Amino acid sequence: MRFADIEDRIQKAADRAGRDRKDITLIAVSKKQPQPRVDAVVRLGHMDFGENQVQPAVARWGGGDGKRTPETANNCLHLIGPLQRNKVRTALTLFDVVHTLDRLSLAQRLAHFRDEEGFEIPPLFVQVNTGEEPQKAGVIPAELPDFLEAAREKLGLRVVGLMAIPPVHEPAALHFGLLRSLAETHGLGQLSMGMSADFETAIELGATHVRVGSEIFGARPEAGG
Ligand SMILES: *Cc1c(COP(=O)(O)O)cnc(C)c1O
Repeated sequence: MRFADIEDRIQKAADRAGRDRKDITLIAVSKKQPQPRVDAVVRLGHMDFGENQVQPAVARWGGGDGKRTPETANNCLHLIGPLQRNKVRTALTLFDVVHTLDRLSLAQRLAHFRDEEGFEIPPLFVQVNTGEEPQKAGVIPAELPDFLEAAREKLGLRVVGLMAIPPVHEPAALHFGLLRSLAETHGLGQLSMGMSADFETAIELGATHVRVGSEIFGARPEAGG
C-alpha cells in the first residue's frame, strides 16, 4: 500500500532530523485524481487533503450549499493553487487552510469578505516565489517584509507560515532552506514545502506541511483520457 509507504518515509525523515512526526502534516493532494483512489484514502482515516483548483474541489468535496458534505466535514481541506478574485467566496466556504496568499489584492479581498460579510478567514500561508520565476505566483523574497506588514498589521490577517514551489531545474533544498530562513526572520512557525519528489528533504529542512499527490495516489490521469 502506497499510503503506508509514505507514512513510513515521513517517520524516517523526521527521525533523521530529530523531529516529532506529530509536527508534520501530510496533505494528500487529490487534485485530478479519480474518485475511487481518493475515497480509499479517506476511508483509511486520513484527514488532510489538498486541491489546487476551487471548482473541481467543490465538485469533489462540497455539498449543495458549497460547504463540505457531512461525510467529509471533519476532514481538513487545503487550497494549494492560485485563488482568483471571483472564486474567493466559494473558496472561503469550502477550504480550511489557504496556502496560496500570493498578492496584495488577494489579501485585501480576504479582509473585505471578513469585514463586510462576516466570513471567517482560514489560516493563511504566504506563497513565496523563491526562484523569482516570472511565470510563477508568489511574493518575491525582497518584497516579503512589506507584504507581511500589510497582510498582518494593516489588514489583520492571520498568516501562519510560508509556502513555496521550487523551480523544477534547481535543487529543492536550496529553496527549502531559503523559505525556512525567511519564516524564522518573520516569526512564522509553519512551512508548506515538499512534494512527491522531495518531501523527505523538505522534512529534514523543517517542513511542517508536505503536499504529496502522485506518490500516494499514483500518476494523475490526463484530462479526458
Ligand atoms: C500538484 C501539487 C502538489 C503535488 O504534486 P505531486 O508531485 O503529485 O506530489 C503539491 N503542491 C502543489 C502546489 C501542487 O500543485
